[in-house]
Amino acid sequence: MVDRKTINRRTAEEAIRFLDSNRLDPTPSNYTFAYLYLTGANGWLRKTADAAMEGGVRLVQKDVDEMLDMAPGETGHGAAATSPLDGPQAELRHQMLSFADITAAALRDAGDFNRDLTDNARRAVGQADLADLIAAMIERTADMERRLNETRRETERLRQDLDAARDDATRDALTNLPNRRAVDRQLQTLVDRGTPLAVAFCDIDHFKAINDRFGHAVGDRVLQAVAETLSETMSPHVVGRFGGEEFVVVLPGVDADAAYALIEKAREAVSARRMRVRDTDETIGRVTFSAGIAMCGANPDEALRVADQLLYEAKSAGRNCTICRLAA
Ligand code: GH3
Ligand code: MG
Ligand code: MG
Repeated sequence: MVDRKTINRRTAEEAIRFLDSNRLDPTPSNYTFAYLYLTGANGWLRKTADAAMEGGVRLVQKDVDEMLDMAPGETGHGAAATSPLDGPQAELRHQMLSFADITAAALRDAGDFNRDLTDNARRAVGQADLADLIAAMIERTADMERRLNETRRETERLRQDLDAARDDATRDALTNLPNRRAVDRQLQTLVDRGTPLAVAFCDIDHFKAINDRFGHAVGDRVLQAVAETLSETMSPHVVGRFGGEEFVVVLPGVDADAAYALIEKAREAVSARRMRVRDTDETIGRVTFSAGIAMCGANPDEALRVADQLLYEAKSAGRNCTICRLAA
């Protein structure tokens, strides 16, 4: 039976190897990237990184920074499940702690090595060449010690940042989905990279009637349930809450036909759920949404505008349906 600490250590070592093979510095943010990639904790990041590395291409620092920027967070686990202290974030935090342990151990080893060399150098008085050689080695290990110290401090800072990130300004508090700001940022970054993509606007049908009939607290829970089902069915694609009862799905590398099929699947999954009021067990009935899908060219705002227009057409066509069109 392999214990958790061993698994954590193994993942940390794999991450270090992964960074090494891509010639990326072992900084905490690169380590975070490697962790998310290797464990698949962020499905979108894994897919995007795989696409970037296709054919044995090495990642460069810019790719990593952009992907970390673009991945607003794990969405595959949906709305209700994740308190900030559960799930991937806690997992990542634990990984960072074990990374800090490994770094601290390496730091101790380097210190011991340096002290041994210093003793040896003292004994080697009179043997000029050997002394020079050892002096150079001492310099190298001292440098390593300094760098490891730095990494350790950065790791600790990252752990503190992760703790502070509970109030992440890029997440919607009710559904725990990326908010509009995060979605806008992700769209812009994908467009800047030239990634072809589709965007879908999904808007719950007659949602006001649910609020009017059952109250806002029930309306909130319906929003959470829809967010959860949408995230689950669309995973690894990012679903964001754009506002009110509107959600946006970002589908990088997905063409119009595939996007239509995916959104239809999500629409069917939502409408298949039978929701009840928790306290009274009263049936809420079928909750449905309508959707508009557009392919995104150079301008994400234009793609959102087209998707919104198509959503409006879907509402006019009787709701609970999806309309998709290629961007003009
Ligand atoms: P349609 O099918 O045309 O989209 O009709 P609709 O009733 O869904 O749309 P409408 O825009 O008329 O109403 C949306 C409602 O969503 C009004 C607003 O009070 C409610 N709403 C927006 N944000 C929240 C929220 O966070 N919680 C709750 N409970 N309701 C919200
Ligand atoms: Mg609306
Ligand atoms: Mg609506």
